[in-house]
Amino acid sequence: QAHGPATKMSREMDKPLISLHLVDSDTSLAKVPDEAPKVGILGSGDFARSLATRLVSSGFKVVVGSRNPKRTAGLFPSAAQVTFQEEAVSSPEIIFVAVFREHYSSLCSLSDQLTGKILVDVSNPTEQEHLQHRESNAEYLASLFPTCTVVKAFNVISAWTLQAGPRDGNRQVPICSDQSEAKRAVSEMAIAMGFMPVDMGSLASAREMEAMPLRLLPAWKVPTLLALGLFICFYAYNFVRDVLQPYVQESKNKFFKLPVSVVNTTLPCVAYVLLSLVYLPGVLAATLQLRRGTKYHRFPDWLDHWLQHRKQIGLLSFFCAALHALYSFCLPLRRSHRYDLVNLAVKQVLANKSHLWVEEEVWRMEIYLSLGVLALGTLSLLAVTSLPSIANSLNWREFSFVQSSLGFVALVLSTLHTLTYGWTRAFEESRYKFYLPPTFTLTLLVPCVVILAKALFLLPCISRRLARIRRGWERDGAIKFMLPTDNALAEKTSHV
Ligand code: NAP
Repeated sequence: QAHGPATKMSREMDKPLISLHLVDSDTSLAKVPDEAPKVGILGSGDFARSLATRLVSSGFKVVVGSRNPKRTAGLFPSAAQVTFQEEAVSSPEIIFVAVFREHYSSLCSLSDQLTGKILVDVSNPTEQEHLQHRESNAEYLASLFPTCTVVKAFNVISAWTLQAGPRDGNRQVPICSDQSEAKRAVSEMAIAMGFMPVDMGSLASAREMEAMPLRLLPAWKVPTLLALGLFICFYAYNFVRDVLQPYVQESKNKFFKLPVSVVNTTLPCVAYVLLSLVYLPGVLAATLQLRRGTKYHRFPDWLDHWLQHRKQIGLLSFFCAALHALYSFCLPLRRSHRYDLVNLAVKQVLANKSHLWVEEEVWRMEIYLSLGVLALGTLSLLAVTSLPSIANSLNWREFSFVQSSLGFVALVLSTLHTLTYGWTRAFEESRYKFYLPPTFTLTLLVPCVVILAKALFLLPCISRRLARIRRGWERDGAIKFMLPTDNALAEKTSHV
């Protein structure tokens, strides 16, 4: 009897990813009408099992080709026929290849039976395999079986999604092939299974499709790094001012501030600067267009990328602002805060002062808190409308009103929140610890530039020129015309 890794693997393979109870608990999977279209599946692993279940429940006849049908038959719905590979591929016109790339060559013995059939490649490479092979798995399969038509499909759908049904997961199924008839047949099958086929063109797109499941939030990489970078810089700055300076110059131990207090002074700085970085690229783009006198010159790549990442930067800004609000609620819960309050009360009693009330401070705090809540509320509106389902329900004007106008209102509210927080502190010498200005003064820099620039763009001479450029007018070039609002509809010249 053979022992070792092979036996161990075969024992592992006997364990279904999806329980057999689930597979056959649905009585609709027990019998499929004789006239139902027949589909073949090569392989009896996790994907093959889920696919067979989905196909059977969608009204297809399924025949599974396994190297060891006796061992695997019990793992499939009873309506699916599990047999040897040669027998499984003989009658169906469409055959799913649910095996890994490295095992494709082991199927070459089936070449004759597969002639003229459609092979559906569902495979996904690992990241290393994707880098290693220049040719996609589907193209490799096509090269091994030149008499077959290869269609790449279903690779972005997990075995779990197939099993649970498209209601619970991603519905889109990208499909590509060099033969449109084969692509159509597989697309129809995807629709019958409840999915939404997306035509990706020829088989050359298979490499791009195989890269899809390997992606890990690519649009978030740069914005997250930016947010992290800002957080580290501001945290270090606040640490030096709030913890290190009292320790070095006054021998006071304030290290307890590191987990909550310093984090809470850092988060609003990051949120505020990030919000201004959502609107800064728009200002830069407008400035470039005004300088060039045309919109037909490409922006530099860095600006293009920046413009494309504004949504993620804005959502990260909202995330930091929400955390800041939560941390602020927790401030009075800290033991240090309670001790401070008691100590202050004792000091008051000792100094024989019965009433502590500074009118200016009371008002500053009221206004400052209210502005903060309003800014967070406006930011949460922006965050909600950036969700695809909500964004899709808005027309272009509504979307740009929320994202552009309301976003700018959020920036102005945040600026007022910061200014009322700082109040006169920027002018007090004692606030310049280690000669470093208070953190809020640094954060005001970029947002103020953005707000000033936006205000400048509202000046009629600039806004009219910008509007004309954005409608295609060029300073030294071909297209010259006046906007209808200029009451000069007649002047419309083109040298194209
Ligand atoms: P698996 O559970 O390991 O199954 C692979 C199957 O390949 C085995 O059950 C085996 O069936 C068959 N096979 C045929 N020739 C073989 C050989 N020479 N050596 C070893 N096995 C051989 O893998 P899987 O998760 O089902 O994945 C199968 C394919 O679907 C892969 O290309 C994968 O990238 C793709 N895919 C999987 C998922 C998922 O969620 N699992 C999602 C998308 C795509 P027999 O022993 O019965 O012949």
